[in-house]
Amino acid sequence: MEPPVRLGILGGTFDPIHLGHLRSAEEIGEKLTLTQVYLIPSASPPHKTDTPVSRFEQRLALTRAAAGQSPLLEALDWEGKRPGLSYSIETLKEFRAMFGPDAELFFILGTDAFLEIDTWKAYRDLFAYAHFVIIPRPGFERQGLTPVFEDLGIGPAQGKDEAVYAAPSGKKIMLMSTTLMDISATGIRDRVRASRSIRFLVPEVVRIYIEKEGLYQDYEYAG
Ligand code: ATP
Repeated sequence: MEPPVRLGILGGTFDPIHLGHLRSAEEIGEKLTLTQVYLIPSASPPHKTDTPVSRFEQRLALTRAAAGQSPLLEALDWEGKRPGLSYSIETLKEFRAMFGPDAELFFILGTDAFLEIDTWKAYRDLFAYAHFVIIPRPGFERQGLTPVFEDLGIGPAQGKDEAVYAAPSGKKIMLMSTTLMDISATGIRDRVRASRSIRFLVPEVVRIYIEKEGLYQDYEYAG
């Protein structure tokens, strides 16, 4: 019998996608022997309704160009196809419907994102669909996760691994380490606006696309 397919999911605004996202996705994919890690740009990020965000098509094009550099990574446009705000719970339901009940899903997110999970739609239900992989993000301490874990009923999992926890649903919550990169999309946009270099913060294909399309030149860059 075929072993169940193991898939990673990394969502984000990706405005633009950068090496912090890509290196983490690549390392987690390798460590967990995932078949594929899907990079999913959020069409209409619920957390950024007050902030200007580049057009979905541009962010998707950047994500596709970056994912094309690794056989492990693939960009998915699903959130652009759904009307309204982009909620992870809907994406996880779509994954289940598409890949069936046996697929093992690993939802990858930074410590900063997990600390705010109680602001996500139906956040308690997320753990019925996927294991969670929490990756470090410079500036965000893991100790801060304790009250969030308590609220969600997440406790130590059976076994020796100190970095693996379990949700009441039985899904695993894994604290994994990846190469720390103090890179943010905000910092990249600020650099472009100030006519400073973004080389070696994003893949070259992403840098060239940003330059060619003239992205992030103005403060109000939303298209
Ligand atoms: P912005 O600066 O516009 O808020 P961002 O750089 O934080 O953007 P997002 O697209 O919001 O990028 O992040 C998507 C996901 O990737 C989140 O789970 C976030 O925690 C994670 N992430 C972002 N940057 C890094 C990084 N440098 N290292 C590890 N994880 C990261």
